[in-house]
Amino acid sequence: MIAEALDGAHVHITADEVFERASARLPEISRATVYNTLNQFHALGELREITLDAGPKRYDPNAAARHQHLVCDRCGTIRDVVPQGDVRLPDDQLYGFAINDIEMIFRGLCPACAGPRSGSAASPKRPR
Ligand SMILES: [Zn+2]
Ligand SMILES: [Zn+2]
Repeated sequence: MIAEALDGAHVHITADEVFERASARLPEISRATVYNTLNQFHALGELREITLDAGPKRYDPNAAARHQHLVCDRCGTIRDVVPQGDVRLPDDQLYGFAINDIEMIFRGLCPACAGPRSGSAASPKRPR
């Protein structure tokens, strides 16, 4: 049930949203069950936790494929993206660290938010 709530591409939802989706299908499911299951999935490496801005952390089921995120500054749409080329620090900026992971956020406006520049009264389309 919880796995189904997280099914799909470019899914990045908060624990509360997972709970809402799961309880729509299984009304008796408790919030604690959902939270515990999410923590277990995360511990198993099947979910990635991401934090964007000041909002609650989100769960990303696309944990197997290393990727970064492209975020619309206006509507918050999130896309999984894979930057080209190696992203690495020069040796003199490693400070002896062993790097485990890299988190990058590419920001901008999605096409719907950037909008037609003609100034027509066309209603803005929501992505997804
Ligand atoms: Zn947008
Ligand atoms: Zn992602």
